[in-house]
Amino acid sequence: MRHRPKDIVHPIGCACRHCTPRACRNRRFDLAIRAATRVLFLIAAIIAIPFIIAHALASAKGDGR
Ligand SMILES: [Zn+2]
Repeated sequence: MRHRPKDIVHPIGCACRHCTPRACRNRRFDLAIRAATRVLFLIAAIIAIPFIIAHALASAKGDGR
């Protein structure tokens, strides 16, 4: 009465053990987190660059006291 796992067609994103082994899922999750962290770091750096430049200019100006 039971359907064999090999006979049924799995849709994309199927969450059964056959389609998404734990290792594969963890790997994907890890890669996604790494990508997100990289993007966040990049955004933080882009936001911080003008402040660093302004600070450098200010200290350069203030250096001539
Ligand atoms: Zn499946």
